[in-house]
Amino acid sequence: MCPTDIGPPDFHDMLPPVIKNNYGQWKYHEIPHPGVLLHVAESGDKLYSVRVGSPRLVSIHQIRDLCDIADKYCDGYLRFTSRHNVEFLVSDPTRLDPLLEELHTKNYVIGGTGRGITSIVHTQGWVHCHTPATDASGPVKAVMDALIDYFTGNKTLPAHLRISLACCLNMCGAVHCSDIAILGIHRTPPKIDNERLPKICEVPTTVASCPTGAIRRDAESGGVKVVEERCMYCGNCYTMCPAMPLADPENDGISIWVGGKVSNARTAPMFSKLAIPYLPNNPPRWPEVVDAIVNIVEIYASHAKKHERVGEWIDRIGWERFFSLTGIEFTDKHIDDFRLSVDTFRTSTHFKF
Ligand code: SF4
Ligand code: SF4
Repeated sequence: MCPTDIGPPDFHDMLPPVIKNNYGQWKYHEIPHPGVLLHVAESGDKLYSVRVGSPRLVSIHQIRDLCDIADKYCDGYLRFTSRHNVEFLVSDPTRLDPLLEELHTKNYVIGGTGRGITSIVHTQGWVHCHTPATDASGPVKAVMDALIDYFTGNKTLPAHLRISLACCLNMCGAVHCSDIAILGIHRTPPKIDNERLPKICEVPTTVASCPTGAIRRDAESGGVKVVEERCMYCGNCYTMCPAMPLADPENDGISIWVGGKVSNARTAPMFSKLAIPYLPNNPPRWPEVVDAIVNIVEIYASHAKKHERVGEWIDRIGWERFFSLTGIEFTDKHIDDFRLSVDTFRTSTHFKF
């Protein structure tokens, strides 16, 4: 077949020989040190995966450095995990300690395995996207600085704890199945510039872009108007029409959701549920968000049973107990009063009325 540049290359071509030779024949794995996974094959072959954190937005210089390290210690084999950690795949055990030493010398942070916190997956934030209600890299850096001991293995947790951030509720980062989700929220409708709108946007497309039918044609200006009680501040209209910006420096902020997981170990996957409806954007270090998350992590660490994920722990103790243990206030914002919702109208994590 003629080679093309359409679609991803076949991953088999990029596997290290030790994985190719033992494909589907791995016997067990263990974690000899935090950040180091050891996989042992039926044949007796061993593969060490050394995991280091990355900030996700990495420079070309750092990528070159990572590749040089991989060339030196693991025949060029490394991979990026789905949580943007870097894993060096070492098949020669004599090269493991020199690799760890060089990583330490170069200040790479080794960890993110087992019962702890691995890197926070996040979306683009103010650096790139047009609808964020908060930044992405900024809060993630501040939160991870406070929780770094759970990454390096200096502190452990009852089970894996996955934190994710999406900077608006369109959630291209899909944070809704995370133990702790940081989600940017808008709280005000778009500001319409009807002077500019008819010149740069198609009015019918703009009207059709609203999932709740909140946008109507405004005959007077030739632009549009928004029926505010139908608006759920999603930003879809701004994606279609730049004359309807949604960003609001005073009212945008962050909500915190807890108890989700993707894993189907022991219990089925779970969705995250609302814990804190609003925290202000307070760059550059987002202290309110950091404090709130550290509080949830510490209460979970001291109350959950071994292997219990955050959602499983809350299911066992009940949401009332979760709110009282963490000191998080239960407010009217926890109850869904958006009148166009069907399944969740007047429902909270506690009750429906
Ligand atoms: Fe853009 Fe929303 Fe994705 Fe953030 S979560 S990058 S604002 S679409
Ligand atoms: Fe409609 Fe969303 Fe725009 Fe509100 S923000 S008017 S719900 S598209």
